[in-house]
Amino acid sequence: MNATDHVSVSAADLRARLARLDRDAYDLETCERYASIVEEILELKRERRAVILAHNYQRPEIFEVADFTGDSLELARRAREVEDAEVIVFCGVHFMAETAKVLNPERTVLLPDMKAGCSLADSVTAEALAERKQELKAIYPDLRVVSYVNTTADVKALSDACCTSANAVKVVDAIDSENILFVPDRNLANYVQSKTRKRIISWDGNCYVHHQINPEEIMRVRDSLPGIQVLAHPECRRDVLALADAVLSTSAMVQYAKRSDADKFLIVTECGLSDRLLMEVPDKRFFKTCKLCRFMKMITLEGTLDSLRNLRHQITLDDSVREGAKRALERMLELSA
Ligand code: SF4
Repeated sequence: MNATDHVSVSAADLRARLARLDRDAYDLETCERYASIVEEILELKRERRAVILAHNYQRPEIFEVADFTGDSLELARRAREVEDAEVIVFCGVHFMAETAKVLNPERTVLLPDMKAGCSLADSVTAEALAERKQELKAIYPDLRVVSYVNTTADVKALSDACCTSANAVKVVDAIDSENILFVPDRNLANYVQSKTRKRIISWDGNCYVHHQINPEEIMRVRDSLPGIQVLAHPECRRDVLALADAVLSTSAMVQYAKRSDADKFLIVTECGLSDRLLMEVPDKRFFKTCKLCRFMKMITLEGTLDSLRNLRHQITLDDSVREGAKRALERMLELSA
């Protein structure tokens, strides 16, 4: 894959793909406007030697200009494979763009909207973590800190290892301690605790999108669509996970849905993933819990064009933070290999 192999797209093509998701939102007029922006973005990508990475929860029209679509870590890793790219535009939230910068320090990393934050990443600061770590070390001298990738770079830098929702149990089991401070998602910490014999001390954070999903919503869909497969993300509450056929990261949900013999699925995570599935797996049916992340949706096609045109907003990190975060990310890769 290189940064220049996208071709242009017509308004009719766009409408054929996107109106399947929402006929009203993607009318011909909107698709004509989007087609012209897509054209400009593709041209600028060639000029700037840029790649666009889009998280699974992005707006569907963003997928049209993306070189890679996936979860945050997958995207940061894929960016390293694009040898001729000088610029990375990250269509996702701030901590993800930071991770891309940690792993690609020599490249310019852009986030189209600096307000695209994350309730989960914001629930732990480096100062609060340093304080809690010190308190707990006095009680558990072997304490290790495992931080979810949904954290800022300075929190990662204070951690012994990072983890994703896909490898959290493996990282916890492999790390050299019986006592783990797991930050910042309490729901993911509960899920990990249910799979390990180690002591998990959880931080009190949550993703506001996943935390609001309740078991009644799942039961309503199960009752009205017998045989539906329920795929839930581990950032959901324990009582929701108890109703799932499989608990999976977003990228694992895509693989599962493609391989499964089932033809209908309830996707219990942010709505954008169901949109991606509807576009990529047109012969199966996907139902969603209709929860939108307001931070993810701050990224627009117009904002992405502006970002590429004016090279803004650039992600910068102190060397010590970048090196510390890189060490925690690399430790994760070692422990989960
Ligand atoms: S879905 Fe949740 S974890 Fe993901 S960016 Fe939005 S608030 Fe953060």
